[in-house]
Amino acid sequence: MNNSEILKIFEDSGALLRGHFKLTSGRHSDIYYEKFTLLKNPKVCTKICKMIADEFSGKDIQTIIGPTLGGVIIAYEVARYLGIEAVYSEPGESGRILKRGFELSPGEKVLIVDDILTTGRSIKEMIELCNSRDADICGIGLMLDRSGGQIKFDYPQYSVGSIDAVSWSPEECPMCKKDEPLTQRGSRVH
Ligand SMILES: [Zn+2]
Repeated sequence: MNNSEILKIFEDSGALLRGHFKLTSGRHSDIYYEKFTLLKNPKVCTKICKMIADEFSGKDIQTIIGPTLGGVIIAYEVARYLGIEAVYSEPGESGRILKRGFELSPGEKVLIVDDILTTGRSIKEMIELCNSRDADICGIGLMLDRSGGQIKFDYPQYSVGSIDAVSWSPEECPMCKKDEPLTQRGSRVH
């Protein structure tokens, strides 16, 4: 499947909306992505997670790690395909931590997964967490790269879909200039 076919899956599921949106930052965008619209749909979510699992299936990965909240669903599902276990990282006082009896061992081959790459902050925090345990990071698997390929890490990185999500200040917004009706959507972009 090519990227536009992937984006069509996101659009058909209702997760990826096109229009004229006011983001919580106050900026305007022609794209709005509501990740939980996709994550609530097992049929679509499973299909996307299988693609991540297939991409890394030859790497002898031992454990999948994903961040709360959306990353838990993806980590679990990718782990299910690969027949291994998943652990989930949670926000700590600084960075991400493992709780609930989860642990990573030195040399453990891990795959980091997340739903959407926007600023890369949660991925960075999970890299730090894995490095703090001397785990062996084999790659990073993402559902959707909203940075359009601009955010890169020093590990094999795979995004099922990629989209360059542009935003403008209201003064610069080309849709405002055309008087297109504005929709307010969504929550804080992580
Ligand atoms: Zn606008």
